[in-house]
Amino acid sequence: MKKSSQTFKILLASSNQGKINEIAQIFSDHEIIIKSQEFQRLNIEENAKTFEGNALLKATGLYHSLKDSIEDFIVLSDDSGLCVDALDGEPGIYSARYANIGTNKLGNASDSANIAHLLKKLSEKSLKHSRAKYICAIAAVGRLGGKYIENIEHGELVGEIIDEIRGSNGFGYDSVFIPEGFDRSLAELSFEEKNAISHRKKGLEKMRLFFDDL
Ligand code: IMP
Repeated sequence: MKKSSQTFKILLASSNQGKINEIAQIFSDHEIIIKSQEFQRLNIEENAKTFEGNALLKATGLYHSLKDSIEDFIVLSDDSGLCVDALDGEPGIYSARYANIGTNKLGNASDSANIAHLLKKLSEKSLKHSRAKYICAIAAVGRLGGKYIENIEHGELVGEIIDEIRGSNGFGYDSVFIPEGFDRSLAELSFEEKNAISHRKKGLEKMRLFFDDL
């Protein structure tokens, strides 16, 4: 992996351990600071209509809460989700709370509830499979040498949703998602195998190129 020309503090605006692990591995040559508790305390409302908008809300929210106490740093955030062709792109930006939509429950649902909801939606259409893709927007907001930095990058992973749970690695919808070119679900791949092909990896690698030019 190419090393950035300069290394700096990268603060992660996330409380999702699965995402944190993936991002920390990809930027292991920088100083990674996990800010899960501060991030949770901010309770940022992800009310944008796009992955990019929500990623930016998370990164700018944490940046503004820390900018007076830290000198040079960049906040990285990810907003991602699953878009299923047969469901017209659902659950999309609602991936984390899919099973709670239309109920009186607020916030994110469990991974198992979201998967059950997704498979039910497919079965209502008499479908066992559908082409789908994971989409990820990565936002970087920070300040280096007094200069304000803001950038967004994207990554995608195309595959297929299946109607049985396979594997126990990963998180979210990984156990029902077979990446294109594989015969195992993302949850049957090792951490390293998933991290070599994931939507987040692709977005983060583009962000790495952006960092290299700073
Ligand atoms: P976010 O934290 O608001 O970006 O929500 C992302 C949601 O999308 C997660 O809670 C998962 O349901 C889903 N998701 C995003 N990336 C992945 C992945 O790599 N594997 C499985 N599910 C994912």
